Amino acid sequence: MSGYKYLFGPVPSRRLGASLGVSPIPERTCNYSCVYCQLGRTLRMTNTRQEFFPLEEILAEFREYLRGSIPFDVVTVVGEGEPTLYSRLGELIAGLKKETDKPVAVITNGALLYDAEMRRELMEADIVLPSLDAVTEEQYRKIDRPMGSIGFAEMAEGLRQFAREYQGQLWIEIMLVDGMNDSPEDIAAFKEFLGTIDYDRVYLNTPVRPPAEGFVHTSAPERIDLAARELGGISIDQLTSGSFFSEVEDPYEAILSIARRHPMNQFEVESFLEAREIPADQRQALMERLGQDPGITVVPYKGIITYRVN
Ligand code: SF4
Repeated sequence: MSGYKYLFGPVPSRRLGASLGVSPIPERTCNYSCVYCQLGRTLRMTNTRQEFFPLEEILAEFREYLRGSIPFDVVTVVGEGEPTLYSRLGELIAGLKKETDKPVAVITNGALLYDAEMRRELMEADIVLPSLDAVTEEQYRKIDRPMGSIGFAEMAEGLRQFAREYQGQLWIEIMLVDGMNDSPEDIAAFKEFLGTIDYDRVYLNTPVRPPAEGFVHTSAPERIDLAARELGGISIDQLTSGSFFSEVEDPYEAILSIARRHPMNQFEVESFLEAREIPADQRQALMERLGQDPGITVVPYKGIITYRVN
């Protein structure tokens, strides 16, 4: 079976379980260029919503997927960039929900929540997971590096407004970056800010995969613990659980199809191949091939090798 163009996974997600990803956005297309982005620096900065790919094509691919029997827990609209830039997102969510009883989640940076139409489109999702990495304009510009026209106050007000209107599950994610937003003062400021928002959960994360910028480092475990305690948040453990899955038969192409959207570390590749019962010598050869593939960037980070498709 050939790979899908818009679907990937299911990939294991600690928050969502087996998450079948739907990506309606061309690679690295975003209105932010976060210093910690695991996809690397944003290639195409835009804040203009577009139908980058035909809605019907994406839904047809989802219907085709459902004809198989690979189970998943949730459909997640995510992507290789910011999914709210997809101009028919509301119709995409509605179309997915029409085809499955599984919850539909949207992972977003939240920048476009100031837009009333955007908020309306998200209403149909079962879970919305917006990011919140900063509580001041300066911090916002340093960490998320939004396009010039987007301001912190506007984004923050959009998030508050969305929280008031939305009936589904609102899970906020804070990416803690060493020295940028994880001091006790920063955490106190997050606490004050979150006090103004009606959310359901807050998750604390830190860049465990190679970030876009070399100066980005993970937050110390005690800082993450402090934030979890102070904010009543849930810390996302540093290692991914569960197994990756790909429909693609050829193991090498299968790894590429996952790593294109979700960079994989050496242990994840290894366990993915083991789950497919690939013999040890062939696993070794495939790992070596990955390491030499000019289409792949091999990123050593925190003593672990990660493979990122260029
Ligand atoms: S982390 Fe998300 S919001 Fe930030 S640049 Fe990457 S894709 Fe965009």
